Amino acid sequence: MQGSAGSLTASRDRALEILQTVFGYGGFRREQAAIIERVVAGGDALVLMPTGGGKSLCYQIPALLRDGVGIVVSPLIALMKDQVDALRQAGVRAAYLNSTLTPSEAAEVERGMRQGALDLVYVAPERLVTPRCLDLLSRCKVALFAIDEAHCVSQWGHDFRPEYLQLRILHDQFPKVPRIALTATADGPTRRDIIERLVLGDAEIFAASFDRPNIRYRVVAKAEAKSQLSTFLEAEHSSDAGIVYCLSRRRVEEVATWLCAKGRVALPYHAGLDPAVRERNQDRFLKEEGIIIVATVAFGMGIDKPNVRFVVHLDAPKSLEAYYQETGRAGRDGLPANAWMTYGMADVTTLLKLLDGAKLEERQRSIERHKLNALLGYCETVICRRQVLLGYFGEREHPPCGNCDNCLTPARTWDGLVTAQKALSAAARTGQRFGVAHLVDVLRGQLTQRVRQLGHHRLKTFGVGSELEKKEWQSVFRQLVAQGHLEVDMEGHGGLRLGETGPAVLRGEVPIALRSDTNEPKSPRRGDVPRDAAAPGRSLSSVDEPLFQALRARRLQLAREQGVPPYVIFHDATLLEMVRRKPTDLAAMGEIAGVGRNKLNRYGATFLAAIAGTTA
Ligand code: ADP
Ligand code: ZN
Repeated sequence: MQGSAGSLTASRDRALEILQTVFGYGGFRREQAAIIERVVAGGDALVLMPTGGGKSLCYQIPALLRDGVGIVVSPLIALMKDQVDALRQAGVRAAYLNSTLTPSEAAEVERGMRQGALDLVYVAPERLVTPRCLDLLSRCKVALFAIDEAHCVSQWGHDFRPEYLQLRILHDQFPKVPRIALTATADGPTRRDIIERLVLGDAEIFAASFDRPNIRYRVVAKAEAKSQLSTFLEAEHSSDAGIVYCLSRRRVEEVATWLCAKGRVALPYHAGLDPAVRERNQDRFLKEEGIIIVATVAFGMGIDKPNVRFVVHLDAPKSLEAYYQETGRAGRDGLPANAWMTYGMADVTTLLKLLDGAKLEERQRSIERHKLNALLGYCETVICRRQVLLGYFGEREHPPCGNCDNCLTPARTWDGLVTAQKALSAAARTGQRFGVAHLVDVLRGQLTQRVRQLGHHRLKTFGVGSELEKKEWQSVFRQLVAQGHLEVDMEGHGGLRLGETGPAVLRGEVPIALRSDTNEPKSPRRGDVPRDAAAPGRSLSSVDEPLFQALRARRLQLAREQGVPPYVIFHDATLLEMVRRKPTDLAAMGEIAGVGRNKLNRYGATFLAAIAGTTA
């Protein structure tokens, strides 16, 4: 254990040495060094960092530097094995304890812990808090406790796990062992819950920027969602792995089947599937290349596959928090990735209906409604989407990003006051109880059966809006709802009524700027490198593409032999650097980021041979 203050620089040097020799990386990312220093010195820490930010090293390196075994609490049993495999590849003595082990396997791990033969052990929370496990820990030298996905302790979040509440016992029973809690969920109430419920009052808080510069955000108006999806995939991700989120199980099945018919390998994932099927599909997604998972939000927590190149929302997500977490699963490796959403007014109405059906207290309901409004505002914004997203999480100082649809293809706006007045008066004159479809019929002067039955063809607004197409009117209505001039009346049947500012719009007192989104912004080319992206672009010259494919094939073969996911051997970013630098000897290979000492010994020669063979 690191004792006196005078040894701080020594601890910093040793941490850097481990980063380089074990993990093969040149230097720490921004907050990592300070976090590691804090924990090595025995202090508690709360780490708020986006997905892909590099949280794991913040406890892995201290566990290697401090005496004893580091205990990692992780709620995701299915992923523990991969995490442990990845550490073992780097030469770290790691293991896990969960219900998938046989009693004799578990006994073996426990013996290793007691004898000091393990550096890191991943434990499921429900197991950790059993008297038996606590007793075991009291007989071991424990280096630290890392509480991963710490937001699971909060009822505010979407991933609440009751067993996390019991983790405060770690503080009570092991007051001298440092604890580090980590999460990618940043909002204030969740953060306060974590501190209170895990008794982390003395923890130093490390809050990194939540920006993910390599992710490109785009939102398109929903027309034919499936064919829009297929156009997007063909243009930009013809062979990449990615996730497609849908709102319902039925739709998940339908979209997966449809993508398969289009020649992709697309696997469904939702709570209605047999757990064995779900697990198999997740496993294939992790272990094979180029697979698409079509899922409800049941999929994805803790998925640490680094080369998920796109996350699609075919239906609107539940909130911006959920959206940010779900899109955050793209591009963990820092290479360019896409977050792409289609959405329409019907999605919002569906979400409102879900909310209305849920048994919630009035306060909670109003919070949820507020969240939904924020989401709608994001979808309809004409300014930089990243600014809106980060602003929502409290980061207001970012300039326009240059890597979202609104930055790349600035939206044209037009003076929409008269149009807005027509829309609002259509809603008002029909009694503020009809949805968009009927209002658009009235505005465009369509003599539908319903219009006739209700006598709406005799209204003054009938036919005053024939200058706009149906699609254009739908966009106008979405924007008016997003701007708060109209609102969805859930006490009625989801009809539109005037919002607070509606009357002022009718009186012409409020300027209205509307976005024209008749033309969907064109898709940027695959491989375009975002400005400021920390990572190199993925685009390769035609000369280098065969080498990259050869290295990928070699990696897949090694991964299959060992039954581990390919990225556990090397990440794409590491292979790409090999392609660019074409090392010819082990020393040069060892310079590549992601090639630590252990991997150099195991795989250096075979990858050198692949490079020599392909470039010869
Ligand atoms: P998180 O748990 O925060 O989502 P990870 O710990 O999985 O993120 O790290 C994301 C990726 O970044 C991993 O591929 C990891 O190897 C890489 N990484 C982390 N720290 C560094 C670093 N200092 N230098 C280079 N790569 C890093
Ligand atoms: Zn932007």
